[in-house]
Parts: sequence; C-alpha cells; structure tokens
Amino acid sequence: MTGVKFFMNHEVTETSHTLAAYKARGGYQALEKALKTLQPADVTKEVSNAGLLGHGGAAFPAGRKWGVIKPNDGEPHYVCMNADEGEPGTFKDRWILQHTPHLTLEGLMLASYAIGGRHAFIYIRGEFDLPYRRIQGAVDEAYEAGLLGQNILGTNYSLDVVVYRGAGSYVCGEASAMLASLEGKKGWPRNRPPRLTVKGLYQRPTVVNNVETLANVPVILTLGAEGFRKVGTPKSPGTQMISISGHVNRPGVYEVEYGYSWEQFIFEDCGGIQGGRDLKCIIPGGVSTKILNRDELRGVTLDHNAALKAGSQLGSGGMIAIAEGTCMVRAARNIQRFYHHESCGQCTPCREGMGWMERVLDRIVKGQGRPEDIDRLYGISDANDGTTVCSLGDSAGYAITAILDHYREEFEYFITHKRSMYDGRLAVVDPFEGAVPTPMAPRLAGARA
Ligand code: SF4
Repeated sequence: MTGVKFFMNHEVTETSHTLAAYKARGGYQALEKALKTLQPADVTKEVSNAGLLGHGGAAFPAGRKWGVIKPNDGEPHYVCMNADEGEPGTFKDRWILQHTPHLTLEGLMLASYAIGGRHAFIYIRGEFDLPYRRIQGAVDEAYEAGLLGQNILGTNYSLDVVVYRGAGSYVCGEASAMLASLEGKKGWPRNRPPRLTVKGLYQRPTVVNNVETLANVPVILTLGAEGFRKVGTPKSPGTQMISISGHVNRPGVYEVEYGYSWEQFIFEDCGGIQGGRDLKCIIPGGVSTKILNRDELRGVTLDHNAALKAGSQLGSGGMIAIAEGTCMVRAARNIQRFYHHESCGQCTPCREGMGWMERVLDRIVKGQGRPEDIDRLYGISDANDGTTVCSLGDSAGYAITAILDHYREEFEYFITHKRSMYDGRLAVVDPFEGAVPTPMAPRLAGARA
C-alpha cells in the first residue's frame, strides 16, 4: 500500500516502543518546540488549522473542542486520553499504544499544554495488558527523562499523568461515563449540556480525546498545519488507522490516507475475500455504524464525507468484512447480544429494548420466529431513537435496522422455513453459526416477548 504514514512509519522491533527509539525518530521535538516557542493558544490554533478530526468515532474537530477552554483562566483543566477501545471490530488504538506509546503520550502533553492543564489521565481498557504495560512504561520513562513532572525541559510548565485501568465496561468508552468512572463513581453516561469542556472531571473543564487523535498532534506540530493538510482530503485531512477483521484474507491494522479507495483497500491490500467469494457487505467503522453492501461501496473513498454520502460513517475505523454466504440473521443476533450485555441499564428504552430485541432475534435463529417479529424489531428501534442518555440505544437500533433494510428476505426466510437460507451452502466459515445463546435472555420473569 502506498501513501503517507504518520504512525506505521517505522520498523516494529522489540525496542521500537521505547523512549530511546522514539527520540531517535524525532520524538518529543514537537513538545520542546511548543513549550519553548509557542503559547498554549498557538498550539490550539495549529491543530484547528490542520483540520484534525477526532478518531474515536464522532469525527468532531479537535481544535474546536480545545478552543472552548481558556488556558489562563486560573481554573484546573484536565485532558483525558480515551484508550478504552471497546467497539467490536476496533483494535487500531491498541496498535498505537503497543508500538508507539510515546507518540500518543506526547500528544496528550501537547493537548494539556494547549488548554492549561496540569494533570492528565489515560483511561485504558482493563483487558488491554501489553498496551497498558507499554503506555505505563512510556509514562515512567517520561518522568525519568524530565518530560513529565515539574518544570518540563527546563520550562515553567509542569504536568502529571496518571494511567487508570477500566474494568471492562463498553459504556465507559463514552466520554462522560469515562469521567464518572475516573472519579470512582458508577460508569454511567450523563446528559449534556453542560458539555464536558465546561463541566467535566471533578466539574472542571475537561477534554477527552481518543488515542489516535492525540497521536496526530505531534505530527501536526512537526509538519505544520499546511504540511498536515497536504495528506488526505480537504475535509478529512491526514490518515486513518483501520483495523479490519472478518472474511478478508489479510486482516490486521493498516494506516491509509483519507481519500483512499475502499475497494482497493479490501480487494488488494487486504487480499480480497476468503475462499474466493465476493464481498457481501462491510461494517465500516465498528458495529455501531450502518452496514454498506457491495454495490454501495463501489467508487467510495475512505473519508468521512464519502462514507456519509454512501449512507454510513467511518466511525472508529473498525471494519468488518462479511463474505457472500454469511447469514445476516445470525450476525444481527450476535451484534444485539453484545448491545444487550453492555447496556448500563440507566435508561428504560435501552435497558428494556436491548434485551427485547435480543430475545426476538434469538427466537428467530432458534426457528421460533413469528411473522410480526420484523416489524417489532423496527418498532423497538424507533422507541430508542433519541430517547436515551447516550448513543448506545440509538446505535443498536441503527445497526439492526440497517441489516433488516438490506437483508429483510433472509429474516423472512428464517421465520418461514425455520432455518437460515445459507445452511449447508456455506463456502466460508460462518462465525455466527452456533454462537452461544446468551445466558441473560429472558432475564426478567414475565419479560415481554
Ligand atoms: S442508552 Fe443505554 S447504555 Fe446509554 S446511558 Fe442509557 S441505558 Fe446506559
């Protein structure tokens, strides 16, 4: 694959994640330049001019988020790195944390300097073992080298960084739930306003940025906004880390320039689909994004605007390729099982709706589906839309109804014939066949069916 690489631009060795190796690649020069020659507002301005978009899923402009906070207002401000990568199919932040942890740590320091923060946090997914050891190791090395702590690099800027391990909740990847968890409270999302940049951690202005977003900041300070904008597209500058799994021949983590061809990526770089089958559809950016079928992908490029135009989103960059011959009813049931399990239970439509949708899908794959079940799934999804505190409830509805919109006939066939239309005719392994039924359904006595 050709194209500029900001993160995957070095050989991965046993020591390439260390401070010495990072410095040999030019690491921490951006921090030194910022602390010694730039005002905090200059850093925010450069990031804004570069057009850096968030890489956690929502693609919100990072500079605009930082610009809300006044660095010199005398109040405590915080930056929290969101390393709670839990969206199914997404494992690209893991690569950065494992292989170039100092890059994202330097980004965290620059973001903290830009907003006048003296304490920063790294909230990392509890299940991440090696990434945790690598980022904690990077923080320790930075303290030893005088890159963290008091009077960094001989300047009057001081910063402390704490690494905090989550406990396995998907919802804690949502920014407000993450901050609640950091405070030692139940990891529940909260309504906004007030925005987190107004009242975040400990009721103070807080920026929450994804690992990859922060990893872009030293790159921007090194290249300058103009240099950064030469990569990618005018509306999606830079590169995107993509983790791809599913039925491609070469799954893994790739870095692509925004604007790259989606078809070239799947059929050439990822080696096409296993067993020589055609692509049926993709989940483009984590299971919370709507699927795109083979036809919808033709001519589409990998950037935010093109993905929106095609009817979905780039989301978290966690792509799942699904081959022709895969049962989408079982796929939907598996996805819904995840949402039900991860609902925090705070909002009634989500708490009840997630389990209800799972039970409906579960009985369809058990051959006990009813003709009205398809409309029921749409109805439950509608009831969640816009009525919940966080986007989990909406997302589940969008994900399942997008599958229904595209493959309704598979659901009708399953209900009528009490089996998948693909049973016995698969040329590739169907990862969803025989998936373990959830132990939680029905979870309440008298639950609606
Ligand atoms: S939508 Fe679901 S996960 Fe989000 S706060 Fe409400 S109950 Fe919790």
